Amino acid sequence: MPTTTTAPSTSPVAVDATTSKAQTMRALVKHHAGPELQFTADRPRPVPGPRDVLIKISKAGICGTDRHIWEWDAWAASRIPVGIVTGHEFVGVIEQVGAAVTRCRPGQRVSAEGHITAGVDFNSRTGNAHIASDTRILGIDRDGIFADYAVVPEENVWPVHPSIPDRVAAVMDPLGNAVHTVMAAGVSAKSVLITGTGIIGLMAVTVAKAAGAGRIFTTDMDPRRRELSRKLGAVEAFDPRDDSFISTVRKACRNEGVDVLLEMSGAPQAYDQGFSCLRSGGIAALLGIPSKPPTFNITQHVVFKGATVLGINGRKMFETWYQMEELLVGGRLELDDIITHEFPLEQFRKGFETMISGEGIKVVLDING
Ligand code: ZN
Repeated sequence: MPTTTTAPSTSPVAVDATTSKAQTMRALVKHHAGPELQFTADRPRPVPGPRDVLIKISKAGICGTDRHIWEWDAWAASRIPVGIVTGHEFVGVIEQVGAAVTRCRPGQRVSAEGHITAGVDFNSRTGNAHIASDTRILGIDRDGIFADYAVVPEENVWPVHPSIPDRVAAVMDPLGNAVHTVMAAGVSAKSVLITGTGIIGLMAVTVAKAAGAGRIFTTDMDPRRRELSRKLGAVEAFDPRDDSFISTVRKACRNEGVDVLLEMSGAPQAYDQGFSCLRSGGIAALLGIPSKPPTFNITQHVVFKGATVLGINGRKMFETWYQMEELLVGGRLELDDIITHEFPLEQFRKGFETMISGEGIKVVLDING
């Protein structure tokens, strides 16, 4: 069972134990080493440590990662501690703060960065906390947010701007992945190919458009997602089962190829197809996670091409969050067609099924919304 505090350097301060004692809550728990999640109404409510806040969860997004945990694939079996409360994408309201908390206050509407670090390793101390070696992730390494309440360190809490609605604030975590990828690659006045328009790929279309991309091309096997990416601003959306799109894209871009590739599928053929579409000297940002190492001609696609390849992990803490807030508050993102379904917590099974079947794109659970 994960602990609910991150090793504070200050001496422990007593938190009001009387109010939290014996209080229980609803939660989705990985109760055994196998598929699905169990609903319980008897989970003890977590108690915040001195530098933590206790958050009453309003809404929570179901992530692709939660799907792996639900299906209990090889990755989940090797990583997820049995007994954990899952989920990491949320918006909620602060209920209680620890004694050493200085910035947050009860009643504040917040989301949070789910990558929790001790802040002491090389990357944390040099502006790259998102790839810290001691990262512990909400709902993966420690109790998450598919519950009435969750505890998060104050440092990770993100106060949500009043103009951002709950259903959008609940998915700032994956939206941050899209923003980080687009901003890392730099798309302004550039042609862009996005391979794979799942949730984050679709978000990347609207983010790239907002960030001033020139033409945006996408690939996806699902015709509904191809249609949606056109609606969000792609000039063309291709079915990757037909390789002929590669010459179409290259021809459209001076017979040289696109300036930027955003790989968001993890599909084995997407690497070869995507890099074949990328011009010499282009930039590729890779977010997709292949289920096994892809076969990929690095001589042709990277070395001779002089390509720049960026690995994208998480969100920059907290540069990405500021960029995301600015794009959202400025009304620059179109997310209504991406967040397709909302179910009450008790209907979590229907929520997961809607997401896994592909009927839904982003599915949100209403917990105390
Ligand atoms: Zn997620």
